[in-house]
This record gives sequence, C-alpha cells and structure tokens, in this order.
Amino acid sequence: MLLGRNNPAFGADIRTASQETIKTEVCVIGGGSGGTGAALAAARAGAKVVLLERESILGGTGTCAWVCAWRPVMGSNGIPRDLYMMMKEDPSGVSCIDYSLCGRAGRVKEGKWLPKNPSLVYEPRTFDYAAREMLEATGRCQTLLATTFCRARVEGNTIKAVEAWFAGKRLLIEADVFIDCTADGDVCADAGCEYHMGEDSKSLYNEPSAPEKAEMSLNALTLCYRITDTGVSQKPYLPKDVKSDSCPLSACYDKMPNGDVVINVVGMIKGNTILCMEHSRLMREAQRRVYAHFHAIQTQTSGKVQWNTWTISGIAPRIGVRETRRILGDCVLTENDCRAGISKQSHKDVIAIADHAIDMHGRRGQHLRLDGPYGIPYRCLLPKGVRNLMIASRAASFSHIAASSCRLQRTMMTIGQAAGNAAALAVKHRIEPRRVDVAALQARLQSQGVDITEPAQKA
Ligand SMILES: Cc1cc2nc3c(=O)[nH]c(=O)nc-3n(C[C@H](O)[C@H](O)[C@H](O)COP(=O)(O)OP(=O)(O)OC[C@H]3O[C@@H](n4cnc5c(N)ncnc54)[C@H](O)[C@@H]3O)c2cc1C
Repeated sequence: MLLGRNNPAFGADIRTASQETIKTEVCVIGGGSGGTGAALAAARAGAKVVLLERESILGGTGTCAWVCAWRPVMGSNGIPRDLYMMMKEDPSGVSCIDYSLCGRAGRVKEGKWLPKNPSLVYEPRTFDYAAREMLEATGRCQTLLATTFCRARVEGNTIKAVEAWFAGKRLLIEADVFIDCTADGDVCADAGCEYHMGEDSKSLYNEPSAPEKAEMSLNALTLCYRITDTGVSQKPYLPKDVKSDSCPLSACYDKMPNGDVVINVVGMIKGNTILCMEHSRLMREAQRRVYAHFHAIQTQTSGKVQWNTWTISGIAPRIGVRETRRILGDCVLTENDCRAGISKQSHKDVIAIADHAIDMHGRRGQHLRLDGPYGIPYRCLLPKGVRNLMIASRAASFSHIAASSCRLQRTMMTIGQAAGNAAALAVKHRIEPRRVDVAALQARLQSQGVDITEPAQKA
C-alpha cells in the first residue's frame, strides 16, 4: 500500500499527520551507560524524566556492541553497584565475583603494582532487564525505546524541545533540562556547541603525551563477536575472498556467565574509517575481519588455548566506537589531571573518580598506567553556550588523551548519576544546572555511595 503524499487516498504525509508533544522536567537522550545513570539518578531524586533511546534495548555500547565487560575501575560504587546487585538476581546474567575486587584498576603498594583485578562480565539482556526494572521502580521515568532524537529546538541559548521519531510518529519533548547521553554529542552539536575530534595539539592543553600538531586520528573500531564451545571438533571456516591474516590478532577474551567467550579485537579497524566509509561497507569489512580473526586463532597451533571445538555463535549488531566528538565544556579534563591524581588536582567540583589506564587504540597505541584515581569536575558536564543542557557520555568535555582513560562504562554511568542529580536539583530550585550548589550535589552523591575522594588504600 502506498502511503504518504503520493497516495491520493491517504491525503497527507503520515508523519506530519501524527505528532505528539510530551512535557517533562528532565529529558535524557541516549540510554547507554551515561544515559541509564542519568535517567535513574534524576528520577530517584524526584524529577519527572523522559529517556529516549533509538535501540530497543538499554545499555548502548555495552549491550548493542557487546562490550559487556566492566573493567576494574575506582569510583564505581554508586549506580553501577546497584545495577550489579540487580543483575546478580539473574543466576546466569553476570559473572559472579566479589564486587569490591573489581572496584579498582589495580594499585601501587610499596612501589609495586599489585595484580589486576577481575572484570565483571554481563549478559546484554540482563543489563537491559535490570536497568528497566530500576527505572520503572522510580515511578517517574518514561522510557521511550526505538525513538531517535533528530533535532534540538533552540531559542537563544536555551533548548526548548527536542524532536524525535518513533515508528513514523514525530515526538516533541519539552523539558527544563536536557542531558545529552548520545555518545557522539549529537544534541550538543545540533544545538551549536563547539567540539573537538581526534588528537589535540600539545599547545592546546599542555599535555606531555600530545603530538605537536592536532591530528584527525580516532581510536580504533571493533566489531565484537561471541564464540561457543560445541564440545566436538569444528572445521575451520573462512568465507571466500577473506584472507586469514587480514585482521590483527591482539584481542580481549571475556568469559560470559554461560561459558561462551566474547572477543574484542582491539585494533580491528582504524578509527577514522567511521568518518569516511559508508556504514554498511564498514560493517561488511568488520564482519570479514571477524571471520579472519576466528579462523586465525582456530588454526594457530602455538596459542595457549585451542579453539578447535569452538564456533562463532554471534556477531554484535553494532560496531563498537571508542571515540567521535568531544564537546567543549566549562572545564576540560586533561592528561595532566589523570597523571596528577586527585590529591594534586585543584578542582573543587569533583563529582566522580576514575583510575583506568590511559589507553589509546589510535595510531600511537599508548598505554599508561596511573598510580591512583583522579577526579572528574562537574564543569566537564556543562557544554559551553547552552544554559539548560548537560552532557554525560564519552563525548563530555575531556581531552583526547583523558577520554581514553575515563570513557569506561561505569565511569560514564557515574557521571550520568552526577548529571541526573544535578538536573533534579536545578529543576527543584528553578535554576540552571550551572548554578547548582556543588557542595550539596557532592553531599548527595556521597550519600548515594559515589566516591568523590580517594578511598583508603586496602592492603
Ligand atoms: C570496542 C570497545 C571496547 C571497550 N571496552 C570496554 C571495556 O572493556 N570496559 C568498559 O567499561 N568500557 C569499554 N569501552 C568503552 C565503553 O564501552 C564506552 O566508552 C561507553 O559504553 C560509552 O558510554 P556512553 O554512555 O557514552 O555511550 P553508549 O553506551 O554508547 O550510549 C549511547 C546511547 O545513545 C543512543 N543514541 C545515540 N544517538 C541517538 C539518537 N539520535 N537518538 C536516540 N538515542 C541515541 C545509542 O543508541 C546508545 O544507546 C569499550 C569501547 C569499545 C568501543
């Protein structure tokens, strides 16, 4: 059946014929790690929330790109811990570990680096189910799945509403505060905020590891895949036209709760490809590399693990993107912050801590361990130029180098928790997020279990 303008029987375009306006206090756009944390925190703090997510599942990169492993990182005792407790109720949903162990990336004791702690691995469905349960329990969050943000309606320096699409219907969401959690900073960019992409020049933030000149070099892309042990010998498979050596071998192997393994080939495809290759071609190339990678590890004889009884049981529906835009905020977190650590930083508005290594999967491939946690200032969540907009995702105001340390899922969820609480305070007191009493925000976060100072070192 022909629909739309060209169908005389139908008359009007189905899309323009159907529009709904929703009014709320806080609108969170993007339901990944940052968005889940932001929506949950704002709703728990008493605000009326609408959460928009273009997929039919929450969790973003973690659930849709199958990056379903929480690497150890300090500062993960707020909403991530609550979510873990909820996920743990599903006996096959999460790798059963002592949560306190995966709460730190590792530590230096008497000049020695102590061994790395375990990652926490979860089933994507379990994250989604637990997050939905927790959001529903607030009674204040309307979660709109399969709904795509497309435009910010800006008047002066204020976002009045965002436009989104759901199944041919246009939605207009009006709110007091908007939180951009799209990972690419789409709302901020559409609202006219300034942003950076790629490597920053040394002179911009005076970072010791930065190159002299800014360079468009993004962290590598990875299409994760999942393998299952069949228990019987498998014939290695390589589609025609795919070369076995066409994919780098270095990869992270995460054991899922049911014994499957999810493989994340760290440098699978150059990051800049996302900017210059049409997406279906990119996915096709990434799929070829998945087959090449598995064929290579299955046929190698020297590896520690033999994969000859294993088979590919799935390829993630979405490619994992580590880096795109970084929105310019009131403060930029830099390598100098990460290296200095919280005791030497001078920021008075720390709302989260992190200690993951600086881990750049770009052309330099640097990996630099940190000696302890650093603080992330609240001002990194406040994009310049728009008064009622916040950002809580990997696109927040970080330098290229700092982002490579703090982009971890639980850190994003924790900055989301800070943004959600701040948005609720702003709504309650009828002020801009920029005017929120930072000491009150910090006290509130601490009462929710968030670490904003260095926790005492345990032996
Ligand atoms: C290959 C790879 C490996 C990684 N390894 C790890 C790891 O082991 N452990 C770890 O903790 N971190 C890891 N990371 C980093 C981490 O996964 C990401 O940095 C983190 O998930 C980003 O969280 P986010 O909330 O910023 O974005 P996301 O989780 O990606 O969420 C963004 C959400 O916004 C939605 N969205 C986007 N645009 C729109 C729109 N227009 N309308 C509606 N919704 C929209 C998306 O669908 C998505 O759900 C890895 C990343 C990659 C790519």
